[in-house]
Amino acid sequence: MTSNSTPAAASNHPLPSYLDPKHLGPWGIYLQQVDRVTPYLGSLARWVETLKRPKRALIVDVPIEMDNGTIAHFEGYRVQHNLSRGPGKGGVRFHQDVTLSEVMALSAWMSIKNAAVNVPYGGAKGGIRVDPKTLSKGELERLTRRYTSEIGLLIGPSKDIPAPDVNTNGQIMSWMMDTYSMNTGATATGVVTGKPIDLGGSLGRVEATGRGVFTVGVEAAKLSGLALQGARVAVQGFGNVGGTAGKLFAEAGAIVVAVQDHTGTIFNAKGLDVPAVLEHVANTGGVGGFKGADKMANDDFWSVDCEILIPAALEGQINAKNAGKIKAKLVIEGANGPTTPEADDILTDKGVLVLPDVIANAGGVTVSYFEWVQDFSSFFWSEDEINARLVRIMQEAFAAVWQVAQENKVSLRTATFIIACRRILHAREMRGLYP
Ligand code: GLU
Repeated sequence: MTSNSTPAAASNHPLPSYLDPKHLGPWGIYLQQVDRVTPYLGSLARWVETLKRPKRALIVDVPIEMDNGTIAHFEGYRVQHNLSRGPGKGGVRFHQDVTLSEVMALSAWMSIKNAAVNVPYGGAKGGIRVDPKTLSKGELERLTRRYTSEIGLLIGPSKDIPAPDVNTNGQIMSWMMDTYSMNTGATATGVVTGKPIDLGGSLGRVEATGRGVFTVGVEAAKLSGLALQGARVAVQGFGNVGGTAGKLFAEAGAIVVAVQDHTGTIFNAKGLDVPAVLEHVANTGGVGGFKGADKMANDDFWSVDCEILIPAALEGQINAKNAGKIKAKLVIEGANGPTTPEADDILTDKGVLVLPDVIANAGGVTVSYFEWVQDFSSFFWSEDEINARLVRIMQEAFAAVWQVAQENKVSLRTATFIIACRRILHAREMRGLYP
């Protein structure tokens, strides 16, 4: 440090490229979101830098023996963004495009999400850079177990609790739970959530994210005067999240007119038979080839006439190229990070109401919290009780976000960040710096 360096200058030591705010990608987007809320943090703004870097990030090499006898190496990650409010919590994603900076952003969004619905967790996320569709079941199991062992120094029921995310499920959670338990010498069901019911899983967990999407959608529709009866819905991604949300909207009288996933886009102006589409997806792995619908060019999905659009696939799907075409009045972000900041501005200028991921898809982690509590107490609740508690938490959190947005004349995303960042940084301040 030179003699005229100030402590402030020292804290602004040049950042490595992946922490650079100009870096385009999920982490850069997250940093812009934090910058937008800083003026609303009052004296807590002193701590805001805490949110702009992960507490810790682990990169692991995951070697496995392939069925053909060769040894393949995959890169895995576990990032704990913030632990001020409790243990780390967040999913594990298996996808060929996973990068450290993506996992960093996803872990940060978990910190915000967990604080927004006030579950007692920090934020974490993990992933492996792999296309799991190219692996046999045995290879997938060996990959999952080796990854779990490698991140074993970070995870644990009171340290950091993984869960399902893109391309991971109850089977993968079971292997993770077993590997951790065998390595530590005691069955620890609370080390992961999203487990099958027979292994300490919670009723309602599989549908929880979609149910949360539906719950905030209903609240937002009420507040903005949009009738659900006959409302047209378009959904991107028809797995746990998009599929459940589509089903619940259809049951509430809305019409699901278009669905897109990695196998194609299907459209029916009169409304798709959602249970039949779900069955087709369960049997074939995607919506492509579904009879009872017209095929549609993938690009045309974004300009479909609809009132509600639910992006429930991957990041960056609504961007500067397609945002202008969107006709929906309400966009409910089932996925994490589906809307780029440019697209967010385009939608806001058009008067589209965007329900941001950090509140809209928080139903999953909320029921993960219930699962973890049930595992700790070895006492399991009924599905009705779980759904009622989920709906109450989502409604209360959404009402608070709506109020902060009105009071400060900001977007629902910024309002959610204001609530969450205040909670995280207040915890941070009260705990103090130690050691
Ligand atoms: N992967 C989900 C999410 O992005 C759930 C995480 C969890 O339950 O811990 O919110």
